[in-house]
Amino acid sequence: MASRSEHLVDWLRDAYAMEQQVEAMLRAQASRLENYPDVRTRIEQHLEETLGQQALLESCLTRLGTGPSLVKGMTGEIVAFGQAVGGMAMSDEVVKAAMSGYVFEHTEIAAYTALIVAAHAAGDLETRRICKQILPQEGEMARWLLTRLPDLVAAYLARSADGRDDAQR
Ligand code: MG
Ligand code: FE
Repeated sequence: MASRSEHLVDWLRDAYAMEQQVEAMLRAQASRLENYPDVRTRIEQHLEETLGQQALLESCLTRLGTGPSLVKGMTGEIVAFGQAVGGMAMSDEVVKAAMSGYVFEHTEIAAYTALIVAAHAAGDLETRRICKQILPQEGEMARWLLTRLPDLVAAYLARSADGRDDAQR
């Protein structure tokens, strides 16, 4: 059986890998979106938040004696997946980006919710504080995407029906 602090370190490393995947996905999406500037701006903003989250997770891992170097080896495939998902050239690319982003933010919400409990159980108040600081950023991104989705789909459908080549992204 693993100890509480072993679980905490494990899940922090998972979260770090998750944030690297998010980074690759957001970078790919931001670089491709051309005709939906507010979506691109929000993605770029969340990319900055994501880099900050990575730094905070690194600080937790370092404090617990597990450097991020131990994480980096395993993330190559994950990052490649994120780039593939984020850069997919689909005719409804912008819609899929918003939908998959919404799903992914909820993966992050679940991860930080679990980490808050795990950090508390391990008596690591600093990690708990950091995860509670990150969690609302994921919630706000998820909410923004869901709020934006109906108009985004409507705009996409209108452009698509007109045969406009700026519909897709
Ligand atoms: Mg995140
Ligand atoms: Fe996020």
